[in-house]
This record gives sequence, C-alpha cells and structure tokens, in this order.
Amino acid sequence: MTLRQKITLTAMLIMLIFLIIVFGSIYFSFQYVTIEQEMERIESQSSVIREALASEAGQEVDASQLLRAYVPTNGMIRVIDEDNNALQTVTRDQALTSIGAIYSTGEHLEQVNDSELGRYARLTFPLIWTDGQVVTLEVIEWIDQVDETMATLFYVLIIALFIMIIPVWLAGKGISHIVIKPINRLNQVMEANQTDGEWELIEIDTRAHDELTQLGATYNEMNQRIKDNFSKQEQFVSNASHELKTPIAIIKSYAQLIQRQGKENPEVIEESVEAIDFETNRMTQLIQQMLTLATLDRGNGLTYQTIDLVRLSRDTIRTISSTFDREIHFDSNVERAEVSIDPEKINQVLYILLDNARKYSTELIEFKIRLAEDHVTIEVTDHGEGINQADQEKIFDRFYRVDKARSRETGGTGLGLSIAKSIINAHDGRLTLSSNPGEGSTFSIIIPN
Ligand code: ADP
Repeated sequence: MTLRQKITLTAMLIMLIFLIIVFGSIYFSFQYVTIEQEMERIESQSSVIREALASEAGQEVDASQLLRAYVPTNGMIRVIDEDNNALQTVTRDQALTSIGAIYSTGEHLEQVNDSELGRYARLTFPLIWTDGQVVTLEVIEWIDQVDETMATLFYVLIIALFIMIIPVWLAGKGISHIVIKPINRLNQVMEANQTDGEWELIEIDTRAHDELTQLGATYNEMNQRIKDNFSKQEQFVSNASHELKTPIAIIKSYAQLIQRQGKENPEVIEESVEAIDFETNRMTQLIQQMLTLATLDRGNGLTYQTIDLVRLSRDTIRTISSTFDREIHFDSNVERAEVSIDPEKINQVLYILLDNARKYSTELIEFKIRLAEDHVTIEVTDHGEGINQADQEKIFDRFYRVDKARSRETGGTGLGLSIAKSIINAHDGRLTLSSNPGEGSTFSIIIPN
C-alpha cells in the first residue's frame, strides 16, 4: 500500500469514526429526550385520573364508566386487587390485556420494552376502591411511536453518513496530496541526482514553515555540502596527480638522459642523480603532507599533552634560525605557558609558518606568544613581499600558491598552510592572516586553553 493510500484511508477512517460517534450521540440523546417527554406526559395524565377518582370518592358513580372517561386512546386502565386479579380493565386495545396484572402498594412509573408487544409505559399507584379495599390502579400506554421516530432518524443518519463519505474521502485525498506532493518532489530530485549524478536542489516555498519544507531545506543543505566535498575531493585528486606528474616526468627525463649519454658523459650521471634525488625528496614530502591532511580530514590523529608552549616555540625557532641562518625575534609575556595541545602537530604548524616567513622575506622575522586566561595567541610576522587581498582568501586552499614557479623553486607544495589550518581547527582554534602587500604578513593563531 502506498503512503498516499495509507494517509487517505487513515484520514477517512478517523473522520468516519468521528461521524459515527457524533451521529450515535445524536441518536441516543434524541431517544432519551423523547422517551422522557412521553413519560412526563403520561405521569401528568395519570395525576388527572387520580384527582378525578379522589373527587368522585363516596359518590354513587359507576367506577368503570369513570375509568372509561379517562382511559388513553392507545392505552389501558386496570384496577388490580391484592391477589393480582384485575377487578376492572378498561381498554380499546385487547393486546394490552395480555400484560400480567401485578399488585403493588407503591407508586411508580416505568417504561417496558417487550420483545413481543413493543414499548409501553406503565404507571401504578395505590387507591382505596369502592368496596373499601386497597387496590393498585394501573395505567398503561403505548409509547412505541418513539421507536418509529427513532427508526426514521436512524435511516436519515445512515443516509447522511453515506453522503458524508464522499467529502470525507475527498478530504482524505486532499490531506494526502498536501503531504505527498513535496515528498514526491523530494523523491524525484533524489532519484534524478542519483541516476544522473546531478546536484539538483529542491525548490523551497519560503512562505511555508512546515516540517516538509524543513526536510527539503535540510536535503538541499546536505546536497550542497556533499557537492562541495565532492568537488573539493575531485580538485584535490586532480591537483595531487598534477603535482606528482611533474617530479615523475623530471625523474623519467633524467633517467632517459643517463641511458642515452651516461656512458659517454659521466658528468651527466652526477647531475641527473642529484636532480632525481631532489625530485624524489619533493615527492616524499608531498605524499607525507597528503597523508597528514587525510588523517586530519578523518577527524583523528591528535594526541593531547600538557606542555610548555614557550619552550616548544623556542626550540622550533632555534632550528629554523640556525638551519637557514635567519634572525628571529622572540617575544613572550610569560616564562612558561602550560597548554594542552598535540605538541608534534603544533610544532609542525610553527615550522610551516616560520618556514614560509623565511622563504617569502629576507628581513627580521618576529615571533610573539601571549598567554591569556582561557587562550594562547601566537603571531608570526615577516616584513617580506606580503600577500594581496585576492590571494589572502585562497591562501589556505589546498595546493594554492601565489607564484607557482617561485614556490616550486623554494620547495613549496602549496599544502603547508592548509595543513596548518586543519591542525589549528582540530584544536578548536583559529588561524588568520593579515597582510599588506609590500610590507609583510602576520599569521595569527588562537588556541583555547
Ligand atoms: P608552500 O609550500 O607553497 O609555501 P603554503 O600553503 O605554505 O605552501 O603557502 C601557500 C602560498 O602562500 C605560498 O605559495 C606563498 O605564495 C604564499 N605565502 C605563504 N606564506 C607567505 C608569507 N609569509 N609571505 C608571502 N606569501 C606567503
């Protein structure tokens, strides 16, 4: 059964149950009120008889004649003695005489629904009869016209119920249409996206604020995110293969050179081996960096330790400064800064920033560390060429290099800053850049502590 059929049927069923309850309540309330009215009427009629008999008491009047004057047209009056014998029976309907006579001294009114005779009301009260004995005066009256009225009402309600089935069915269909339409649209778009490899979005009615609109919006967001990740991945694979192609081509060309001229020109071998070694190192670095990024992307790879960040920074600065013979000015507001970080990864970030600063500037590099109550800030400033506004936005993208040829010369892969950003993000921190072209750049790190 489709969802549309399920919704239509459920809505119909609920509405039908509701209608049956309403119609049932109408039917039974009407029956109750009508019978009550009949009983009240009979009671008031009987009190007239009682008063009449009381006023005639002691007078020489034929009791049966008096009773005849008051007998209801569709009823019976009986006088019953102690032995349950009917002393007087006045009626025009002989069927009523088959009702058993029962003597009682109390006064009471009841309605009897006899399966053979039908529905009648029975009122009894005690009376002192003409011969002085206490008898029961019984007044019986048919109230089966109530059943006829109820039967008519029953048929009217059943017909009304059948007539109501059409609007109820239409309402069910309407409800299912409202619910199913956006689901179908969602389904179509999902199927089309799956089969055609498209990234089509669902049209959202911005005026509607229902759950289905929310579902569509969530799908669109998810779709957009998958699309972005997909294209990032495609871009990454294409960039990575392009980056690997260059060193492989260089290695191949040197290998061919050795093959062609190695025997005659041994100096070619030395030059080629040097170049092959350089390119192999470059490839190794590239692959290592790609693996680091993949680990960070998977969301694991951090091993937290509480260490002194001032000491760690000093060590990294010392290594860069002595290896590349560059002056780096160190400035800290504390002697020690105990923070919980992955020391190896943070060391990698500091290395990337300081290495870039020395690659893209020639003057003094400044390193500033500030420990605050709930975070630590590090700033690496150089006074080199700087980065223009357009490039500042892309600088953290994978494989992005402002000057490809220059970067290759300096051994850059374009992955350093994206690795640094991923590491800082994994620490819930922020890595930002402020740079004025021609004046230099400052990379700032904030890590929560
Ligand atoms: P690379 O390995 O090429 O240095 P990065 O991701 O570290 O890759 O840097 C990306 C690009 O950003 C570099 O190619 C360079 O053009 C630019 N860049 C990075 N740091 C600096 C800096 N301190 N000054 C000027 N340009 C920089």
